[in-house]
Amino acid sequence: MKNLVKINSERCKSCGLCVHICPKKILSIGEVVNSKGFYTVEMKDQTQCIACAFCALICPDLVLEVYREEKGE
Ligand code: SF4
Ligand code: SF4
Repeated sequence: MKNLVKINSERCKSCGLCVHICPKKILSIGEVVNSKGFYTVEMKDQTQCIACAFCALICPDLVLEVYREEKGE
């Protein structure tokens, strides 16, 4: 499996912390609104993700899960 960030949009509160901390600048607040009325975070280019997990660590609402590519796959 390649590096992958799973986004649980229903939990996102549009705070933007992950957008600011991502070193690759591949997260953004999109135009999709969840059931609570928040614009949710989107991944712009999954192939650029280095699986550093900064986004998952800083998110206060446990929206993001980061999976790192295993060597040899
Ligand atoms: S794991 Fe790192 S590079 Fe990937 S989206 Fe999160 S902060 Fe950005
Ligand atoms: S840090 Fe979490 S709650 Fe805030 S915008 Fe990012 S995914 Fe949404």
